[in-house]
Amino acid sequence: MTAGGRWPRADASATACAIVLTYRAHRRTILRAFAWYPAVKTFVGSSRGGLCAVCRGLIRLNDVEYDVEAGPWKVRIDVSCYRLFVEEMSDALRA
Ligand SMILES: [Zn+2]
Repeated sequence: MTAGGRWPRADASATACAIVLTYRAHRRTILRAFAWYPAVKTFVGSSRGGLCAVCRGLIRLNDVEYDVEAGPWKVRIDVSCYRLFVEEMSDALRA
């Protein structure tokens, strides 16, 4: 990335490709970091509308959303990412 915060044109398609290829792994990496935090807390509620902090998917008004807190870090996530989070939590608890 340049100092101006834009990707150089020649790198843009390669970057987009890499993002797609690493997308699922990236979601897992973020969620794993939360799942392995010793005192992680989760809250469920009805959304006021917004974007999932992990996949950037739309969370519609009144859809179920989850707040996951790990110390000073907090993410608001959708049901799909919460399912991945639960898988990571069960791995963390088995370890
Ligand atoms: Zn998500």
